[in-house]
Amino acid sequence: MASRRTIPALVAHGGAGAATAGDERGERRRGMLAAARLGAKILQSGGSALDAVVATVAALEDHPLFNAGYGSLLNSEGNLEMDASVMYAHPVSGPEVKRGKETRHPAEDDDYDVSAGAVALVSRVRNPVMLARAVMERSPHILLAALGAERFARNCGMRLVKPAEMISPRARERWRARKRQQAEELAQAAARASMLPEHGTVGAIAIDQDRGIAAATSTGGVPGKLFGRIGDSAIIGAGTFAHVLGAASATGQGEAIILTSLCREAVLALAEGSPEVVAREAIAEMIDATGAEAGVILLDRRRRIGYAHNAASMQVARFDPAGGLRHLWLAPIARVGRDRK
Ligand code: ASP
Repeated sequence: MASRRTIPALVAHGGAGAATAGDERGERRRGMLAAARLGAKILQSGGSALDAVVATVAALEDHPLFNAGYGSLLNSEGNLEMDASVMYAHPVSGPEVKRGKETRHPAEDDDYDVSAGAVALVSRVRNPVMLARAVMERSPHILLAALGAERFARNCGMRLVKPAEMISPRARERWRARKRQQAEELAQAAARASMLPEHGTVGAIAIDQDRGIAAATSTGGVPGKLFGRIGDSAIIGAGTFAHVLGAASATGQGEAIILTSLCREAVLALAEGSPEVVAREAIAEMIDATGAEAGVILLDRRRRIGYAHNAASMQVARFDPAGGLRHLWLAPIARVGRDRK
């Protein structure tokens, strides 16, 4: 079957949140570019959007400065509980259909298969995004959590690690510092402050040459989170969404992102607007509804890219054949609303 090829594209984010310390900016930028380059190479050699976003997110999970995989933030009890998800929409291949003089392919009629997988509260898996993909491809379910997810990982042949192996010295020190700070503050004020996102959740969205569209997100969660808390990054429609219209990955205060179904709403709005406009509107609506801080990256089937956030800081790496691979620190929409290199 002759297939209609398209030009691939990918966007990755490294979380929206508190301002990034000056001495970490260069290292984060290099980490983002290296991860996005991996995904871009997969796309350029004809690989799928799914392979590209999983490889990009897994590379960021392995990087100690990002709040996902190794180096994830710890919960209020000093333990690791990671969330991740993936979603893939790809054209259904099938026989050509002859209609008069025209030969039509099912994929031209928006005939897409859509699948998703997610994990929550895992602490013994090196790359939660890969486990999310296994849930999607090798189980009848969409979301597996905690011990059940880890047992599933083992059954899939994944090596389980000791949670301590996933805790970086930096994450442990941050947890201790937070505890010290909390002890000095009034309980309620501390609880409120502790839910503000820190920089470092990761996500990627891509479209491949066969018009497959994928999204993936992975996080250690928000600082000070309670034992057992699951955030948006494990919830399809909230932190991750992919569809025939496009794909989205979110970051920021998970409770607000879940409440507003941020990624699903944004992707469905691509029917009416460009990713750039839709991303801004989605964040503006989230602010109106919750007053929280969050960010989103968006890509449509025409390979147009958009992003917006209202936190102190957010970074993205984007790849498209016209512009190549680029890294950007994004200004928040409420303040300037324009990209800064
Ligand atoms: N959205 C993530 C969560 O709530 C955290 C983040 O993106 O910073 O778990």
